[in-house]
Amino acid sequence: MTCPLPRMRPHVCQIDSTCGRPPRFQARLEAVHGAQPVRQNAEACVCHLADLVQALTTWARGYHLTDGQLTLLAIDPPVNGSCPRDPADHDRPQMRGFAFSIIRLTE
Ligand SMILES: [Zn+2]
Repeated sequence: MTCPLPRMRPHVCQIDSTCGRPPRFQARLEAVHGAQPVRQNAEACVCHLADLVQALTTWARGYHLTDGQLTLLAIDPPVNGSCPRDPADHDRPQMRGFAFSIIRLTE
């Protein structure tokens, strides 16, 4: 499967190539395609949060992924161009951020 969003510069919003704002939200898609687990992550600034959700749900719908969920997390902005990581997050990067919403994938 292809990534729903093109790879762009690290530590900037991934939704709009002209947006240079630091990401403040991460969307994590977890679903099953056949017997294969599918995971996709993308990050966006506050102005593109709605576009982030729409991009991932549209992508999931295109692959008919209905058994899964999209988790929205508030994340810390990068500091001086680097990605801050709590040492405790090193072994479980999926736990970075504060999950504030879960959207179930449906038809
Ligand atoms: Zn943006």
